[in-house]
Amino acid sequence: MNDLRRPDRARTAIVIGGGVAGPVAALALRKAGIEATVFEAYHPGTGSRGGPLGLASNGLNALRVVGADGVLAGVGIPTPRMVIHSGTGKVLGTVETDPGLPTTTTLPRGRLAELLQEHAAAAGVPIVYGKRFVDAVDTGRSVIAQFDDHTTAEADLLIGCDGIRSTVRGVIDPAAPQPRYTGLIGLGGWSDGPLGVGDTAGSFHMVFGRKAFFGHISDGERTGWFANLPFKTFTRETLRDTAFEQWIALMRDLFADDDSAALTVLDHVTPESFIPASPLEDLPHVPIWSKGRIALIGDAAHATSPSSGQGASLAAESAVELARCLRDLPVPQAFAAYEQGRRDRVERVITTAARTNQSKAAGPVAARFRDALMPFFMARFTTPEKMAWQYGHTIDWEAPAT
Ligand SMILES: Cc1cc2nc3c(=O)[nH]c(=O)nc-3n(C[C@H](O)[C@H](O)[C@H](O)COP(=O)(O)OP(=O)(O)OC[C@H]3O[C@@H](n4cnc5c(N)ncnc54)[C@H](O)[C@@H]3O)c2cc1C
Repeated sequence: MNDLRRPDRARTAIVIGGGVAGPVAALALRKAGIEATVFEAYHPGTGSRGGPLGLASNGLNALRVVGADGVLAGVGIPTPRMVIHSGTGKVLGTVETDPGLPTTTTLPRGRLAELLQEHAAAAGVPIVYGKRFVDAVDTGRSVIAQFDDHTTAEADLLIGCDGIRSTVRGVIDPAAPQPRYTGLIGLGGWSDGPLGVGDTAGSFHMVFGRKAFFGHISDGERTGWFANLPFKTFTRETLRDTAFEQWIALMRDLFADDDSAALTVLDHVTPESFIPASPLEDLPHVPIWSKGRIALIGDAAHATSPSSGQGASLAAESAVELARCLRDLPVPQAFAAYEQGRRDRVERVITTAARTNQSKAAGPVAARFRDALMPFFMARFTTPEKMAWQYGHTIDWEAPAT
């Protein structure tokens, strides 16, 4: 409820960024009675399709609150399990989705944002494309956003959903941390073809290879794959200027001794479906999530490395939780309640993923220990019960925020 009896509640919001957090935040804010407009730097259809992204049960639960969980139906590959292998082909363990939860769905990363944008627009959320946010002025009663085309927009609030390299984060805290390199670079792709591999029957196979990490999933028609390569030193220019053929040759070399689908997939990958290399990064602790009338959600506040398979799900959760708090509380209390409810959870996920990154970048000795000990640990610690804190998380939209 947001009416004249509650003048201290926000009524309008500017949402910066149309990735995952942005469209979900706008939908949730509308549900909370706050009119939100999304401003996205790029034009539709100009982004990369991206490699495979798994939207986990908890993310689907969050999307359900705003009626957006159905947008993935028929688009992604249902993925009820991850199967973890060593480079020798031995199964080290499996992570099964609890059958009582929505099944994880794997789809191209860029497609998820497009689907959410389309859904939000169809629900009446204005999305303004080609608007790159550069700065904001908090007047104490409103926020005025400034864009690089010298236009402005004004609302009661501004929500920064502009990703791991957030500009909004720098506006509320010029000393905010920069993304941390994990020691791994990521490459991958998504193909509307089998890439030489068969239907994996809902399993996403992940291989701790002898020199690098490889994952793939296929439903026999569509195939997603990724590789994580330990790289100590590089420059962004080197990554950008390395040609497709050079990457394929390097990966063929790194995966040559592994018993995995890597070499078969690499034989079939085309430049069109290939996502070039980028450093994998996270943000373990962003000290300031909000200031005045401006707050951060998603990767802007709590970027986890891709190894968690949770970044998009956490972004969706935070979007819904922030809207629930703004529905019930004046702005400062709402921002505080949102952070109080979210920080421990997201930082726990980020820390867990950082440990996985160390295993992916293990040297030969550490890798032997990893392969020997992992079956023991996975059998005990990745059961549906033990993973319930992550995948079973639900948001009680009706519960009053306090
Ligand atoms: C290789 C890789 C694999 C991943 N795999 C998974 C996975 O399996 N499962 C999972 O849950 N997550 C995964 N993630 C993480 C996931 O993609 C992110 O956590 C998620 O996209 C975060 O959503 P967001 O909306 O916060 O940020 P983003 O999705 O990055 O969206 C930010 C948006 O803001 C826009 N923007 C940026 N700056 C501005 C500006 N100044 N003005 C206006 N707009 C701006 C951008 O164009 C973009 O559209 C992966 C990430 C990577 C890199």
